[in-house]
This record gives sequence, C-alpha cells and structure tokens, in this order.
Amino acid sequence: MSFLTLPTYEDVAAAARTLDGHAHRTPVLSSRTANEELGAELFFKCENLQRMGAFKFRGAFNALSRFTESQRRAGVVAFSSGNHAQAIALAARLLGMPATIVMPRDAPAAKVAATQGYGGQVVFYDRYTEDREQIGRDLAERHGFTLIPPYDHPHVIAGQGTAAKELFDEVGPLDALFVCLGGGGLLAGSALATRALAPACKLYGVEPEAGNDGQQSFRSGAIVHIDTPQTIADGAQTQHLGQITFPIIRRDVDDILTASDAELVEAMRFFFTRMKLVVEPTGCLGFAAARGMKDRWRGLRVGVLISGGNVDLPRFAELLAPRVST
Ligand SMILES: *Cc1c(COP(=O)(O)O)cnc(C)c1O
Repeated sequence: MSFLTLPTYEDVAAAARTLDGHAHRTPVLSSRTANEELGAELFFKCENLQRMGAFKFRGAFNALSRFTESQRRAGVVAFSSGNHAQAIALAARLLGMPATIVMPRDAPAAKVAATQGYGGQVVFYDRYTEDREQIGRDLAERHGFTLIPPYDHPHVIAGQGTAAKELFDEVGPLDALFVCLGGGGLLAGSALATRALAPACKLYGVEPEAGNDGQQSFRSGAIVHIDTPQTIADGAQTQHLGQITFPIIRRDVDDILTASDAELVEAMRFFFTRMKLVVEPTGCLGFAAARGMKDRWRGLRVGVLISGGNVDLPRFAELLAPRVST
C-alpha cells in the first residue's frame, strides 16, 4: 500500500476535459421551499439527470478513456448490480469496447436489462456461494479484460469529482456541501474539487444510518469493515471505504453524517412533490442530512449533491405510498 499515489485536483480537471461533450453538464436547481425550511440558500446539483441516471457515468467514462489501445481491444470487466454496471456498459459502448458485467443471479430484471441494453455482456454468479471479486479477477486474467472497480480507482475518483467541480464553477464558493457516501468515490472526488475551488467550504459525507462504517472509519482513523447494511439506500450498501478513497476523505472532509431510511423517504417525497425530481433513496442522503442541521446554515450558501435517480416505478410508489402530503 505504500506505493499508493492519491489522485489530485489536476486529475479532476483532466477528467473534466475528457468528459466535455460526453457527460451532461447537469443542472443546478434551487427551491424556495427548501431555502425557507433551512433558512439557507440551497444549490442542488442534479446528477439524477446525468446520462444513465447517476454520477457514475463520469468515473466510468473517464477511466475507460484512459485505457491503452490493447486494453481497449480486450475490453473492461466490472462487478456490480447497480449504477456502476450501467455506467461501465454505456461508457464502453460509447468508446467502442466490449464490457463484461458480473451480476448476482437474483439482480433485479430491470437492472440486468438496462445493462444489456447498453451492450454489456452479463455474467451471473450466486451471491450466497460465489465470490464476485474472484470471478471478476478470473475473467480479467482469462480474457485480458481490465477490471474497473466502482470506487477505489484514481480515474474513477477523478471522474466523480467533476460533478462538484461543475457546481463550484457555476455557483462559486459555498459555505457547506453535502455528498452521498458509499465506498467514497464521489466524496473523495468532491473533496479534491472542494479543497481546490472552495477551500473554506465545510464538506460532509452522508451515509445510511444502518451502515455507518465510513463514520466509524473517519473518526477512528482506520478503515472499518461491516456486514452489508440493511437500508433502502441500495447504492450505499458498501461494507468499507477504499484504500484510495479513505486517505483523501480523512484529509479533506470535515465530517461524516448519517441519515435514516425514514429521512430518506421524506427527502424523496420532497424532491418529487416540490421539485418534480425523481431521486433514488441513495441520492437523498445529502439533503436528508442537511435538513437535520437546519439552523446551522442560516443566511449561508449550501450545496447538495443529488447522486442518482434510478429507482423502479413500483418501488418508488411503494416507498412514497403510505402518506400522500408532504
Ligand atoms: C454509487 C452510488 C453512490 C455512492 O458512491 P460512492 O462513490 O460508492 O461513495 C451514491 N449514490 C448513487 C446513486 C450511487 O449510484
């Protein structure tokens, strides 16, 4: 691990040039109702409106763009049942290379179909008896594929950082920024952008209350591993931070906060009814935590990164059904 070189803001700036014309420059929205509720001026960076529905396209496209010619010819392999799978499949298709995605046999049919729809070759495994990382490594070895992990990779982190970079480029410095946290690719990339573009901005990572390994790691100074947490935030059911994401987060982030599933549902309802935005549960983490700190930001400028919007309609309806009004 002593050879680890951490990505820097220069890598984020380079990723932004790579993504120009390929990723959407997603809108930054505001809400008078949210401003009144928090007594602050809020800026929502809407990565739910990114290509394939989440910021993960940024990291995937940036990483695949940096392949050598022979890596491109052989193609990429990734293991994921979520947004990373779709991001890799779409980026590979755009860059004209084959993509193999290792998914659990019981992955939601819609996610399998979406990944296949982007041209990804899906290889199934049994999540109870087989080790997906081992399968990924075996495929990589056998076929010469390059394995791209969902968060612990310098080019992935740099790509994810371009969302926060765009936010600061558009609205200028902020007093605080709230970012959803799973394995830490988005937060680490956001940290590089924040320390370069708005050094005084308070930066918070927000993870599900049921899986606060990031908070434990941040506060103890060593990466804490947990069992897969039970939470509706399926994009943040990670068991630990990464070897690259953790040192960046520890150095550049102010604190790690948590949000409960009930708070995530309330935030989803807010986004839908007030802002006409479909946001997946994981994408609500940042706003849920910002709401919990209400008076702290009175009169100040606060950024919230909405990370994704991929939620099946039946699931969305089920989560929002119990109560009708906000
Ligand atoms: C992957 C994902 C996250 C977590 O990102 P990390 O880089 O793993 O911390 C948050 N929200 C959504 C929608 C995601 O797909």
